[in-house]
Amino acid sequence: MNWHYAEQGKQIGPVNDDQLTELARTGNISSETYVWREGMADWLPYSQIKSELKTSPGSEKPAIPPSPAVANNNAEAVCSECGRIFPMDEMIRHGNARICANCKPVFMQKLSEGAQIKTGELNYARISSRFAAVFLDGLILMAINMGIGLVAGLSLAQAAGVKPKGVIALQIVLFAIQMSIGIGYEVFLIGKYGATWGKMACKIKVVTADGGRVTYMRALGRYFAKMVSAFTLMIGYIIAIFDNPQKRALHDRICDTRVINK
Ligand SMILES: [Zn+2]
Repeated sequence: MNWHYAEQGKQIGPVNDDQLTELARTGNISSETYVWREGMADWLPYSQIKSELKTSPGSEKPAIPPSPAVANNNAEAVCSECGRIFPMDEMIRHGNARICANCKPVFMQKLSEGAQIKTGELNYARISSRFAAVFLDGLILMAINMGIGLVAGLSLAQAAGVKPKGVIALQIVLFAIQMSIGIGYEVFLIGKYGATWGKMACKIKVVTADGGRVTYMRALGRYFAKMVSAFTLMIGYIIAIFDNPQKRALHDRICDTRVINK
């Protein structure tokens, strides 16, 4: 039997029973795809004519060699990613879209990210984990700053003996160093790993609202936004407790970030 089928407004065919079966098996046509053969009054969905297909035994498994019938009939489609035209049998199908072999990895990536967006089911971290992480980060930075302070204190004692102006200069430098370490610690670790050491220890990480990676720039912005959270008598932090289920602190709202369980 010579079949024709409709594909994005185009008629494709003829293909024989085996080929039609194969097209359905590989997902190139669905049960709703309209098909037609000579003698039929109207086009019918594949599901309705499926039963009258006679497949030769054994022909179902080994795919038909790229059928000339199909190939001759412009069985080409536009890749929905790159917009170039490829033979259909070199493309994968997703819903109504077709994707060429080159774009397949990118598309699959998007699909997996898209799926995450669609469900919106980020696994938001508990407040207790978040506060534990902030506490640990505080301890780590305190230890680092104490080390630096100790070294500076020794040179301070020396400088004091020489000239008093040196003491003030040294204190300014010390403050700048400690500030830079605080920024560097947070921005580098969150930009690179999505988590500071404190967060790593608590098995939580910072992501964007749709679950994506936080860039260094966003991590930097978040650092300063955290200062706002702190300067508001910690209210910026406390509001996270009442923000269900996302648990956004003020700096998460400002930077559109979320903290999730790893
Ligand atoms: Zn492509």
